[in-house]
Amino acid sequence: MPDRLDGTVALITGASSGIGEATALAFAEQGAAVALAARRADRLEALAAKIREAGGTAVTIAADVTDEQQAREAVKRTAAELGRLDTLVNNAGVMLVGPVVDAPVKEWERMVQVNLLGLLYCAHAALPHLLEAAESQPRRVADMVNISSVAGRTARRGFGVYNATKHAVGAFSESLRQEVTGRHVRVSLVEPGAVETELVSQNRPEIQELLGQRFTGVERLQAADIADAINYIVTRPRRVAVNEILIRPTEQE
Ligand code: NDP
Repeated sequence: MPDRLDGTVALITGASSGIGEATALAFAEQGAAVALAARRADRLEALAAKIREAGGTAVTIAADVTDEQQAREAVKRTAAELGRLDTLVNNAGVMLVGPVVDAPVKEWERMVQVNLLGLLYCAHAALPHLLEAAESQPRRVADMVNISSVAGRTARRGFGVYNATKHAVGAFSESLRQEVTGRHVRVSLVEPGAVETELVSQNRPEIQELLGQRFTGVERLQAADIADAINYIVTRPRRVAVNEILIRPTEQE
């Protein structure tokens, strides 16, 4: 029997679109109060209004996770405004791909800053709260769910630095899992394949075209499919830690 999330509080980074938005909706449906973090405050407000209309609790936090102070403040505000922090979904990310030769180095820096440093800042700030939540009611377990990618498992030509950031997320998650699992903080890794979101739209036009061609004939996952996997992880009973989920579209090789 899965646990509902009533009485718990979740912070979701990158909640203004795609997987983060779908996860916030799924958690709110399970009874969690949700803190929605990203840079686009208007998108967060619209999502919060939707959650509140359905009877849920949501706060919005305009934050750039690449700024350590803003990441720290997002965690602090969640705990202050919603009373605790049981679940962190480290989801904010960017994927800027293409050949290494002649690549714009700024794109690499952005991926390292968001996908890796941003995730680390949020994890660091959240851990004391997660450890505290794991010792208290209502669930006596807490969760950090880190969003990696198939690209965090398998390196491919054209994806070098994105691969590097997502492999790093996997390595960090496993190390942290070993450190805190005995204290009932579960650290999980979710590795999606191609999901229909805004992720690709950040790329240069010629790269967007190549990415489109690569997935011709593949029915992509919906953001809700990944939210479903994340929801599965955090609603397991206290004794069950789902360490890792790799989830691809059926037609993706
Ligand atoms: P979206 O582009 O739809 O969402 C990305 C989210 O990250 C947005 O909410 C964006 O919000 C947020 N974000 C980006 N930069 C920052 C920042 N500096 N500070 C705070 N938030 C930021 O893409 P997805 O939903 O697909 O991506 C979510 C995660 O899933 C990423 O980590 C991605 O790598 C991963 N993933 C996605 C796959 C896919 O095929 N879509 C496949 C595998 C993994 P805002 O711009 O408002 O700040």
